[in-house]
Amino acid sequence: MQLKELKVRGFKSFADEVTFTVDDGLNAIVGPNGCGKSNISDAMRWVLGEQSSRTLRCAKMEDILFNGGSDHKPAKVAEVSLTLSNEDGVLPLDSPAVTVTRQLHRNGDSKYFLNGAGCLLRDIHELFMDTGIGRNAYSLMEQGNIDLILNTRPEERRFLFDEVAGITKYKYRKKETLKRLDKAEQNLVRINDVIFELERETEILGNQAEKALEFRERQEGLRTLE
Ligand code: ATP
Repeated sequence: MQLKELKVRGFKSFADEVTFTVDDGLNAIVGPNGCGKSNISDAMRWVLGEQSSRTLRCAKMEDILFNGGSDHKPAKVAEVSLTLSNEDGVLPLDSPAVTVTRQLHRNGDSKYFLNGAGCLLRDIHELFMDTGIGRNAYSLMEQGNIDLILNTRPEERRFLFDEVAGITKYKYRKKETLKRLDKAEQNLVRINDVIFELERETEILGNQAEKALEFRERQEGLRTLE
């Protein structure tokens, strides 16, 4: 699996569409301070589902939309697409290349796509689990990131080892299953309450039915006697 292309439009300093093609070997992006180099790694983090505007160096998520310049209006939509080769089938999709796209509209609408088809953030999250590519994983290392990792508490650092060991997916599935089990247990309690209530009502109705039958029998008896 290899990074092939990053397409950015309306995202931070990229007013018009810009395509970064990544070749084999080492690729470097060089430019003066403040020209937008870190915006490229922000775009990668964002397209992979980053939800924290602070991590993207913004006060709020709408700030990632290009905010206008001398010859450009502010962007109505920010769109980033990341393409990875998947010839070795590491990603569980039957496709030689996988493109993940994220859009954010100025009205707050947000959309995700996998190979052009609409999907949920969760699908992207699950797709990249244990590959080292997720928004919190180790393939994206920014300035100061290594220091941060070395200085965090061991428990916080553990997610990196989980990812390398390939158990993030299983931990995630366990968490989801436990959540579902918990919900099922709550449903069971509710169903038991309903059963208890229905049993009580059945008993009352049974008594009433018995009395109604007796009444009908006696009424018929009375009619025969009359
Ligand atoms: P350095 O080398 O100092 O780290 P850099 O090349 O990594 O800088 P970035 O931090 O990626 O640069 O980019 C900063 C530039 O992006 C600034 O010029 C800033 O005005 C611009 N920028 C950030 N957000 C937006 C936005 N929403 N709209 C337009 N421009 C933006």
